[in-house]
Amino acid sequence: MRSARGGGNPSAATRLRHEFPPSAATRLLIALHSIPLPVEAPGHQKVTIMPMDTKTSPQEELRPPVSDATGDFPAMAEGGEEHLLILRGGESNLKGGNRRRFFSQLERNVRRALHDLPAGAPRRLTGRIVVPLSGAECWPEIRQRVAKLYGIENFSLGHPAHRSLEGICQTIERHWPHGMQGSFLVRCRRGDKKFPLKSPQIEREVGGFIHQKWGLPVDLRNPETTIRVEILPNVAYVSFGILQGAGGLPTGTSGRLVVLFSGGIDSPVAAARLQRRGVTVELVHFSGRPFQDRRSERKAKKLARVLARSQMRLNLWLVPFGEVQRRIVVASRPALRVLLYRRLMLRIARKLAWKCDAPAVATGGSMGQVASQTLQNLVAIDDAVQGPVFRPLIGMDKQEIIDEARKLGTYDISILPDGDCCQLFAPKKGSELAVTIAEIRRAEEGLDIEDLVMIALAGATVERFRLPGAASD
Ligand code: ATP
Ligand code: MG
Repeated sequence: MRSARGGGNPSAATRLRHEFPPSAATRLLIALHSIPLPVEAPGHQKVTIMPMDTKTSPQEELRPPVSDATGDFPAMAEGGEEHLLILRGGESNLKGGNRRRFFSQLERNVRRALHDLPAGAPRRLTGRIVVPLSGAECWPEIRQRVAKLYGIENFSLGHPAHRSLEGICQTIERHWPHGMQGSFLVRCRRGDKKFPLKSPQIEREVGGFIHQKWGLPVDLRNPETTIRVEILPNVAYVSFGILQGAGGLPTGTSGRLVVLFSGGIDSPVAAARLQRRGVTVELVHFSGRPFQDRRSERKAKKLARVLARSQMRLNLWLVPFGEVQRRIVVASRPALRVLLYRRLMLRIARKLAWKCDAPAVATGGSMGQVASQTLQNLVAIDDAVQGPVFRPLIGMDKQEIIDEARKLGTYDISILPDGDCCQLFAPKKGSELAVTIAEIRRAEEGLDIEDLVMIALAGATVERFRLPGAASD
């Protein structure tokens, strides 16, 4: 491993110098940076760094020519922005003609997620979204919220810099995190290929500067901190550390689906997977009311609130299903009950889908997990509605779903005891494993299906989650 440890360790330092021999430019920079810069008062926003006079600067040959006529530090010049949230889109960057749409949605999601925090309007910049922050104090809250948004590959707290080596080093010095220890690595990305220095050169020079100034060791393979330098057309950014984003596509770019949301382990994971692929979800929960209490509804609300962190405007439909179940129990044999419940649930969800402008519905079903989810029973259930029924978990093992629920933060809520409506009038021997479409249709002959759908919908209410801020209105 190529690393140099400990500024006080002469052999390591020698090795680093051997690997990164400081150029004449770096030596000049180091000399420059041994002169203390004026210290900014905390919270002071308006900072003006004047680009050095090119005629008199001893570093003239160091500074690459700037690409614009007005100078190359617009962020500082315009708003004195010292702290920025920098988001880098992953798959959204691959979407060719759709890229604009994906980034617009991501921008909207970011604006909504941060609207009550001291953050400015997001703006788009070569495959990134940049949000000015009025300070670093709110960063812990911002990073928590941004980590839940889909369509982001990674993100960081960044600081603008003059597009020159000395400008970058000045910004690093100005924002150097107090007490930063351990190994580091400088990674440079050039969003502007016209910039005269190549990324490896910038990495070497800036890395050399940091090592000389703070004596931290470079670790190319496993650094404790990665310092990211980004060179964009009009500005450079420096970030200390890169955080992993939630990936996927921005929620809201793939249309809308109604998800049957039981309050169990599986359906919240299914809904989150759809959100991660850009789908806006409308949740529908069936409770056993009036024969059961509101426990399952309260649990569904808690779970919905977790999902609302990724989709700040989310609706949860609550449908009392007890009376429908009672009528099914009276008219059918026990082994078909659960399949009949599911068919009715699908029909009701389909009706809500029309209302919500959603072309289809989805469930948390997974192949063979329980008797109502054998292949033949799934076919018998889906026969109740036209159009597709999406099942994002169809090929997943229960343990995989549990692991994902833990990561998502829904597992601990899902396992709380509730009065799930399917436990109401539950058949003692379970469902038959392979019910045919003909059989299930025959079983429904004694039921007034339209009437049952209407009874359930008449009692439906909706909870609107609007995060952040009031949980619902
Ligand atoms: P889950 O953990 O999501 O409840 P499960 O393994 O318990 O799933 P089932 O109870 O057979 O499996 O449910 C299969 C799917 O049917 C659920 O994932 C959900 O989409 C839907 N579903 C079941 N019960 C309800 C309910 N009370 N309200 C809304 N949807 C439901
Ligand atoms: Mg269940």
